[in-house]
Amino acid sequence: MKRIVLATKNRGKAEELAAMLAGVVDEVASLADYPNVTLPAEGAASYRENAIAKATAVAQATGSPAVGDDSGLEVDALDGAPGIISARFAGEGAGDAANNARLLDSLRGIPPARRGARFRCVLALRGAGGRDTVMEGVCPGRILDSPRGVEGFGYDPLFVPDGEERTFAELPPDVKNAISHRGRAVAALRAWLASSSS
Ligand code: IMP
Repeated sequence: MKRIVLATKNRGKAEELAAMLAGVVDEVASLADYPNVTLPAEGAASYRENAIAKATAVAQATGSPAVGDDSGLEVDALDGAPGIISARFAGEGAGDAANNARLLDSLRGIPPARRGARFRCVLALRGAGGRDTVMEGVCPGRILDSPRGVEGFGYDPLFVPDGEERTFAELPPDVKNAISHRGRAVAALRAWLASSSS
């Protein structure tokens, strides 16, 4: 594919996604190249709908194929919460510290064996002709009872992925990206792009 626009205002995410798409897309642009384009609010009922809404809005505004994403943390003992409201678990405009504090509060007294969780990421590509391709990546793990590490963002200091003893916030970024929900969704998108252009 010649050109894709990433439908995210988050510079870190845009750089991470652009690096992972190198080689299968000639040019990866982002909303930094389109400062006047706005994203729809994440009001929909599913990751999939949110990701498609972002991709569609940006594809329409720019005339190029676009990739939208949505992600969240699902905790078994909380019946899958915070899920699609992960960014605002502690309230509208809440930051990472407040969201992490709310998560720890919600899990107080729950033993390690019942602290299973997973991150989920959905990527939607709105291609030429209005066709959507949707990819999903999941990273299973567990939630600690206190934070560790300084890398990353969001719930990273509380999340230990399966097969690791370190939290996402203790892992070097390239190690996190290789196993993370976002890394897995991008790998699927990469494979799809590579096969559809051959
Ligand atoms: P969004 O995909 O930007 O809407 O992210 C939703 C929220 O999920 C973020 O604000 C974080 O709280 C959480 N989240 C998503 N991916 C990650 C991750 O890789 N590490 C930590 N938190 C994450």
